[in-house]
Amino acid sequence: MVAPLEEGHVRLYTCGPTVYARAHVGNFRTFLFEDILRRWLERRFARVTHVMNLTDVDDKIIRQAAAAGHGLHAETAPFIDAFYEDLRTLNIRPAQHFPRATEYIEEMVALIERLEEAGVAYRSAGSVYYRVAGFPHYGRLSGARAEGLVAGAGGRVDADEYDKEDVRDFALWKAVGADEIGWDTRLGRGRPGWHIECSAMSMALLGESFDLHCGGVDNIFPHHENEIAQSEAATGRQFVQIWSHSAYLRIGGEKIAKSMDNFATVPDLVASGARPSALRYMLAAAAHYRKPVNYSDESLHAATESVDRLADFDARVRGHPPRAGENEARVERIAEARAEFGAAMDDDLNLPGAMGTVFSLIRVLNRELDDGELDSASYSALVGFLDEVDDVLGVMELVANERAGNSLSEEDRALLDLRRVARERCEWSESDRLREVLADRGIVVEDTGEGQRWRRL
Ligand code: AMP
Ligand code: ZN
Repeated sequence: MVAPLEEGHVRLYTCGPTVYARAHVGNFRTFLFEDILRRWLERRFARVTHVMNLTDVDDKIIRQAAAAGHGLHAETAPFIDAFYEDLRTLNIRPAQHFPRATEYIEEMVALIERLEEAGVAYRSAGSVYYRVAGFPHYGRLSGARAEGLVAGAGGRVDADEYDKEDVRDFALWKAVGADEIGWDTRLGRGRPGWHIECSAMSMALLGESFDLHCGGVDNIFPHHENEIAQSEAATGRQFVQIWSHSAYLRIGGEKIAKSMDNFATVPDLVASGARPSALRYMLAAAAHYRKPVNYSDESLHAATESVDRLADFDARVRGHPPRAGENEARVERIAEARAEFGAAMDDDLNLPGAMGTVFSLIRVLNRELDDGELDSASYSALVGFLDEVDDVLGVMELVANERAGNSLSEEDRALLDLRRVARERCEWSESDRLREVLADRGIVVEDTGEGQRWRRL
């Protein structure tokens, strides 16, 4: 567990999406890990300040904007809106700050000037580069990967940087021509490198030294290694106390990536029948955040079952008014489970382990509670625990929406509407036909006194 630099206040920075396309479900594995972390920290500390940046300028965005003949903002706005919408779909708590790189150009320029003064930045052909040899701690975070660096390795090393003193050096400021998208600054006309964005925005909003910085494992090198080099060379202070990275979401054993054509977005999956609650559970709780998760129908199905088991139990407990009394052994069992849950979460955010404890308790209590009735002391203990579990897991509100019928794809909803209208008009054969169409789509319809109800097969 982190000991915050400022008493009772945790400062958390998480690398956000590059908004040149809608974020894919792999990105959301990382964002959900960060959401679970944030929620747990909020239970443990009086105050958490969470900053997530939006990278709204990079080569691809510029290329796309130029091709479309509009500015950066017009290019990124729809993807930023889509990102916020997906956060809501998955019940991810919004950061207090979503700084956009394009709004922090002055901070970046000032930071680059500090690096020049410190002797770790140099100009070459109008661009400014970081001199890795000038920072003795380079490689501390990523170890061998930084030492083994060759041009083009590690993913995001730009191939167009001919003017560097050393292959390890990276661009802080990239010169651009008068007709290209860029900013006229004290460094000349250009645009920022990717890494300087996060150093400048995190330090502007959280201070030069803060507690936690997160991302996916592909951020470790070069992105976070370079952020450390930039920030620490400029300030002479430790940049971040703890770095945490989540492993990949994969599909068929491969990393999901926008460049791989194997990705799906959150609305794609919801339209194909995935429930947001189950997606959330699968991405956040099916495996420890340091272990890869494979996306498959089976893993989604298992997550759906877990969510339903939890929600059904929760409904069962809250649906029966307790009777007066105290079953001491039961109260004790619930308290033990709650302590185990907390210990697992404190142990490097072991949510799968914590949920294992919850489901063991549910198994025992479901057996004991055939009549559904609890003694009032156990009832309060259990409701308190279930509230804590969901404060971290964040699925019950999604389940409630889904059960209220709000999670259908547009096509399914349209079919249900057509059937409702057909019944209102007493068109029974049409209503039967639509029932079959829906059944083929995995939706069972029943007619009740209050109209038609649907559930998934
Ligand atoms: P990007 O938009 O590419 O900058 O990525 C945003 C975040 O998603 C970063 O923290 C990445 O590390 C993370 N990320 C990208 N692909 C995956 C994946 N397949 N699984 C988990 N996290 C990912
Ligand atoms: Zn970043």
